[in-house]
Amino acid sequence: MIELKNVSKWYGQFQVLTDCSTEVKKGEVVVVCGPSGSGKSTLIKTVNGLEPVQKGQITIDGVSVVDHKTNLSKLRARVGMVFQHFELFPHLSITQNLTLAQVKVLGRSRDEAATKALKLLDRVGLRAHADKFPGQLSGGQQQRVAIARALSMDPIAMLFDEPTSALDPEMINEVLDVMVELAQEGMTMMCVTHEMGFAKKVAHRVIFMDRGLIVEDDRKEEFFASPKSERARDFLAKIL
Ligand code: ATP
Ligand code: MG
Repeated sequence: MIELKNVSKWYGQFQVLTDCSTEVKKGEVVVVCGPSGSGKSTLIKTVNGLEPVQKGQITIDGVSVVDHKTNLSKLRARVGMVFQHFELFPHLSITQNLTLAQVKVLGRSRDEAATKALKLLDRVGLRAHADKFPGQLSGGQQQRVAIARALSMDPIAMLFDEPTSALDPEMINEVLDVMVELAQEGMTMMCVTHEMGFAKKVAHRVIFMDRGLIVEDDRKEEFFASPKSERARDFLAKIL
C-alpha cells in the first residue's frame, strides 16, 4: 500500500533522511519512533508529498508520490493525516469542519456529507458537540474531531504524527482508543508515536529512526523483545 525505496532528503546541506526504505501493506499498522530530530515527521510527510525528496521512490497504492505528473491533491484526498496540533478550522462548527472537504473535494451533496459527519461523530463519541466550535472542545475532543474529519474522506490509509503528544495525560487514552479501534478494523496506518502501549497492542511492525536512518524495522514482537541496535535499546530503556 505504502512503499518507500531508498528515500533521501536534504534541507540545504543537512541530510535529514538517508536511504530510507520500508513498506506498509494493506491493513498493516506500523509505528515509527525514535529520538527528537531523527526525521520521523519528515519521513511521514514525504509519504503524501507534503515534503518533497531529492532521491528515491515513494508510492501509495501503486501511485508515485514523487512523479511530477501525479496529481498530489487528488492523492492526498485519499490519505488521511492527523498531526500533533489538530488544525481544525476555528471559525467553522464541528459539523462544518467534517463536511467542507467532502463537499468541495469529493463533490458529495451537503446532506450526504452531513449524514456521514454525524455518523463519524457518533463513532468518536462527539455527536452531542456537532454544533460547537473547535475552541469549545478539549484538546482530546478536538483531536478526535480531527480523526473523524480525516475519516470523512474514506481514506485508503491514515498517517499520524504524534497525535497525542500535545494532550494532557488524561486525554491521551480517549484518542488512542479511537486509533486502536481503527487499527482493529483493518485500517492501514503509519503512526509516529511514543505511546508504546499502543504499539504493543495494535502495531504489526515498529520502525526505529535515528539521525535520518531507519535503524530498525522489525515485527513488533522482535522489537520489544530484543531490539538489534544499541540505540534502540537505549531509547526503549528511557521511555518504557
Ligand atoms: P521530533 O520528535 O522532535 O518531532 P522528528 O524525529 O519528527 O523530531 P523532524 O521534525 O523530521 O524530526 O526533523 C528532523 C531534522 O530535520 C531535525 O534536525 C530538524 O531540525 C530538521 N528540520 C526539520 N524541518 C526542517 C526545515 N523545514 N528546514 C531545515 N531543517 C529542518
Ligand atoms: Mg516530529
